[in-house]
Amino acid sequence: MAKRDYYEVLGVSRDASEEEIKKAYRRLARKYHPDVNKEDPQAEEKFKEINEAYQVLSDPQKRAAYNQFGHAGADGSFAGGTGGFGGFGGFGDFDFDIFGDIFDLFRGGRRRRTGPERGADLRMDLTIDFKEAVFGTTTTVKVPRIEVCPVCHGNRAKPGTEIKTCPRCQGRGEVHYVQNTAFGRFTTVRTCEECGGDGKIIDTPCPECAGKGRIRRLREIKVKIPAGVDNGFRVRVAGEGEAGLRGGPPGDLFVYLSVRPHPLFQREGDNIILEQPISFVRAVLGGVIKVPTLEGTSELKIPEGTQTGAVFRLRGQGVPRLHGHGRGDQLVRVKVQVPTRLNSAQREAVYKLAAAFGEEIPEDKNFFNKVRDALGK
Ligand SMILES: [Zn+2]
Ligand SMILES: [Zn+2]
Repeated sequence: MAKRDYYEVLGVSRDASEEEIKKAYRRLARKYHPDVNKEDPQAEEKFKEINEAYQVLSDPQKRAAYNQFGHAGADGSFAGGTGGFGGFGGFGDFDFDIFGDIFDLFRGGRRRRTGPERGADLRMDLTIDFKEAVFGTTTTVKVPRIEVCPVCHGNRAKPGTEIKTCPRCQGRGEVHYVQNTAFGRFTTVRTCEECGGDGKIIDTPCPECAGKGRIRRLREIKVKIPAGVDNGFRVRVAGEGEAGLRGGPPGDLFVYLSVRPHPLFQREGDNIILEQPISFVRAVLGGVIKVPTLEGTSELKIPEGTQTGAVFRLRGQGVPRLHGHGRGDQLVRVKVQVPTRLNSAQREAVYKLAAAFGEEIPEDKNFFNKVRDALGK
């Protein structure tokens, strides 16, 4: 299949700013993340394509090479040939971002059967409140996971009993078989059957873990959620995944966030949207009104003759920027309310208003009274 244009993949123009590229990428990556598209087999392909496009377009040097040479430029065949994407090595910087499966994919490819092996990553879903996402929070999650056995510390033997070096492989964990055939000499390497690849023979297995070196535990883990996260973001808790094998490091815990909606506020990136009803007299005369904000209330000046749908900005009262400085804004969208019931004094005043505006509405024979009369009520 021919590679699609990276700008086309992200749906941005060729002169898009870094911010626009980042925004487009975040939106698409969230939409096509394999975790939310389990039933769509094409989502994963799309997700990879989006990531690849972003890797190039978010890097000024790679982007310049791509603009000049197309795909050949981006993967390093031109302009010095620095090896292109570096095997996704750059992903490590995005601790709170939305990558996931690509990591696992590449990790799996490097797995060795003997020697230390990194523990598995764990993933879990967590729902947090709107304001927790905005301002950040620290919470505790319960995670069932495999840990290093506290009794034998992972060496699988009952404390005080002997651990021998495997005589078959001399502790290497693998055995070389040499075969001489008519076509030449072949060497195959296999995991040692005597010790199962450990290089060690245990006389008395640890009773706590039955000689496995690891046990299952339900563990409470503190998760620090930074200010500014949003739906679909993930938080990495380094080293809190499952224990490694044969002295390997533990995996990581990934917490995927969903955010409960707020009754008043909506989120649009770093901005907070509030729909604020105002009376029609306030809309006509203008003035200062009080509006709810994330941290309480704020005063907002409404000009004379404000229309429904007008948007006013409260600077710096939005969401703190993740990994950045400053905050977004609160946008107040005004909705002018027309009263549905008037008392007689108000009704009289409105008729006077109508007269002042030169609108002729006969006071004693308005439409509703006529209807009422016709129905005999
Ligand atoms: Zn043990
Ligand atoms: Zn062995």
